Amino acid sequence: MKVALRKISNIPLDFDIKSNEITFKGYLEYHAGKLILLKAELNGLLDVQCNQCGEDFKLPLDEEIEIFISDGIYEDNENIELDVIESLDSMADLDEILNSEIELIKSDYHSCENCQAS
Ligand SMILES: [Zn+2]
Repeated sequence: MKVALRKISNIPLDFDIKSNEITFKGYLEYHAGKLILLKAELNGLLDVQCNQCGEDFKLPLDEEIEIFISDGIYEDNENIELDVIESLDSMADLDEILNSEIELIKSDYHSCENCQAS
């Protein structure tokens, strides 16, 4: 799902997308300057690999996500702590954002229930 950043206003624009067993549900809202706020919840089950025994298991997700999308290159150094994604085509590609969040979680350290118990 792609959304034109220019269409996003102060009225939150809801979205609800899915990838396999994961739902990504939230809204887009105009923030300030070139920035659009994306606030969403990531819920569901993610297939990950245990870092200790190598077994695949399903990790339950329940994450709050807050990202800013910049319409063009983001150059405001005052807000450097913000999590900003730059959009060079003035579109918010929600599937791509969802996929990158999933990849980020996958790259974390995970251990399965068996390894956590021992
Ligand atoms: Zn394990």
